[in-house]
Amino acid sequence: MDILIEKAAANELKAKPNGNKLGFGAIFTDHMFVMEYDETQGWHNAKVTKYQNFSLDPAAMTLHYGQAIFEGLKAYRGENDDIFLFRPKDNLARLNTSATRMCMPNINIEDVFQGLQELLRIDQDWIPPRGEGASLYIRPTMIATEGALGVRAADKYLFFIILSPVGAYYAEGFNPVNIFVTDKYVRAVPGGVGNAKTAGNYAASIMAAVEAEEAGFTQVLWLDAVHRKYIEEVGTMNIFFVIGDEVVTPPLSGSILPGITRDSVLQIARDLGYTVNERLITIDEVFKASEEGLLKEVFGTGTAAIISPVGSLNYKGDTCSVNNGQIGTLAQRLFDDLQDIQYGQKKESYSWVTKL
Ligand code: PMP
Repeated sequence: MDILIEKAAANELKAKPNGNKLGFGAIFTDHMFVMEYDETQGWHNAKVTKYQNFSLDPAAMTLHYGQAIFEGLKAYRGENDDIFLFRPKDNLARLNTSATRMCMPNINIEDVFQGLQELLRIDQDWIPPRGEGASLYIRPTMIATEGALGVRAADKYLFFIILSPVGAYYAEGFNPVNIFVTDKYVRAVPGGVGNAKTAGNYAASIMAAVEAEEAGFTQVLWLDAVHRKYIEEVGTMNIFFVIGDEVVTPPLSGSILPGITRDSVLQIARDLGYTVNERLITIDEVFKASEEGLLKEVFGTGTAAIISPVGSLNYKGDTCSVNNGQIGTLAQRLFDDLQDIQYGQKKESYSWVTKL
């Protein structure tokens, strides 16, 4: 694909942030990748250009009917300043799954991967050195830009990739987080869009998150919308339990996001010799296992935090403490292994890592 390169002028380049004060998602690099879609030309006008505002028709359909999808992946700076990407094409493939569900056009994965690499080469000085969670977060996004009112699939779209140097996702860093299990709100319903990474899913989740935060919790754990008892996932993470000798995570039912970290953890845990099951699990089973002393670990998995140990779960006013609020053995092992793979410091046989 032909990609026009329009670099920002020297006097437009921004100051780079202080390495240990990155936070999450507040700082953006100098450039972005953009391309447009319409029905006659398909994807066209691909370019790497300076990070700048868009001009949008106030009737742009994304603003009204929510055709908006995105992805989240990271670039890591390893030893010798080598830059690594973790399963990037899996994220682009998931973007296409989301696009299909939302009646948006698919992207050509190879073309977009080429655009992403061009962008990363230009902004590579923004990739922070390895530190707690320090990496470059990559946000590919697609929105409907056709200006028209009336609910239907738009015929014009914009795809872009922006980059943000980040540190740890949670204020707690890798320390265990306390989670609120909501039985008041649901995130997704069978037949809905829960397995698409579409903006509306996140909008729908905010009220539960606000209430959980006001009550002193870091994240919300969602239960299934029909029975309100089967565990689904956390705000931006999939969830795992170690009960006795079994590692359990809810199956990909259609209402949870098929996490790439989830899939990686499944493979690593199986290769470490654990008994790993993707099966239905109720919140009552988790509390019962805790009472019986069988609940060894709970942790979330996602690109932002990689592995996030859970220290306690609160459900209907009862609290179950997990592993005395300490980081579990498997969570620690997975965090170390995944990070070492992502920063190119551990050889892996999965072919997950691509060097820029
Ligand atoms: N569930 C939801 C709702 C998410 O937003 C995310 C983050 N993308 C995840 C799970 C974890 O997915 P991944 O491991 O691919 O980041």
